[in-house]
Amino acid sequence: MPIYEYQATVPSKGCSVCCKGFECIQGIDEDPLAHCPSCGRPIKRIISRCHAAVIDPSPEHSKTEQRIAEYEKAGLYSHAAELADTYSHKTKDKLLKERALENYKKAGYNFDSDTSDES
Ligand SMILES: [Zn+2]
Repeated sequence: MPIYEYQATVPSKGCSVCCKGFECIQGIDEDPLAHCPSCGRPIKRIISRCHAAVIDPSPEHSKTEQRIAEYEKAGLYSHAAELADTYSHKTKDKLLKERALENYKKAGYNFDSDTSDES
């Protein structure tokens, strides 16, 4: 589950919870929160700092990761691998590339480094 960070749209008017910002774990399909659960003032979603520093936090990326995770859960490793592979090429995401290889292996593909002994 991704962690989202929210903050009051006008931090000076927020309560102790939303003036500094708070984190909220939400499913990818859940609608973003529009109001502070504590004081009810309008809040906006800001990108979680730790995620933003490492990977592209675009909605497309999150959706792709979500789909890969769903394929993995369903045991459709070849699907997961292909999606991760394709997307890692597009985004130059090393982690995704590793994930693709993992899933290829789980799907039964053989990625041994020495492929030349196939005589
Ligand atoms: Zn508040």
